[in-house]
Amino acid sequence: MTETWYPQAVRLPIATKEYFKVRAVPTISIVEHITAGADSRNWLQLADNASSVHFLIRVENGKGVVYQFMPIEWAAWGNGRFSNNNPFMPDWVKAMIAQGININHATISIEHEGVVPTATLYTGPMLEADLKLNKWLADTVPTIKRDRTHIIGHYQIDHVDRAFCPGGPGGRLYPFDTIIGALNMPASHHFPETNLDVAGDFYAFWQANGGLSIFGYPIRAEANNNQSFERARFERHPEGIKLGLVEAERLALLNQ
Ligand SMILES: [Zn+2]
Repeated sequence: MTETWYPQAVRLPIATKEYFKVRAVPTISIVEHITAGADSRNWLQLADNASSVHFLIRVENGKGVVYQFMPIEWAAWGNGRFSNNNPFMPDWVKAMIAQGININHATISIEHEGVVPTATLYTGPMLEADLKLNKWLADTVPTIKRDRTHIIGHYQIDHVDRAFCPGGPGGRLYPFDTIIGALNMPASHHFPETNLDVAGDFYAFWQANGGLSIFGYPIRAEANNNQSFERARFERHPEGIKLGLVEAERLALLNQ
């Protein structure tokens, strides 16, 4: 059987037997968690607590470090307990429970080390490491669905005892939109003509709106959500991609 480990992970193989070595159903979901304390490594590796996870992310010396306790093919025991009448529960979870399937069989769990509520936990190095790990998981396990009903928080399984997992009531401190947006970002593109890379969303916009004859080649690396092409400047705004007002700016400069 294949045993897959995240290449960047520090391996801390679980010392207890709290896992299923064979999954009953395909892995379709990532469940995000938060630990309620300081150093959780030993607790997750060694404790006989009828619970386990695949990954722990903690910030060490300003860097996000990923620990992995078992290969992703195994099913950890982080999501087996569920609450009844859970208003946040996705339909697929309800359907599996109705069929008597333990949700652990369909999920991969990531713990994030921190204390709730902490509004700044999911920024900086934690967010950076989290984005990379979630992306690697979705790319490595193609059956994982990249939407909000499959990239979920623990509270969506148990909204009573785990109401604040992975952060804030209803998981609202966890950056689900950022994570899912990154998972659905098209691949970036390299232009050998000018030796520059264009991010996936910019490249999709470039292709969809006329490509080379309209915009030309990229002539600068992206900076501050801006990238210049021979005939236009792309800008990434919260509401989407826009073209910069380059001619208006030029005239304003001339008229100064
Ligand atoms: Zn949890």
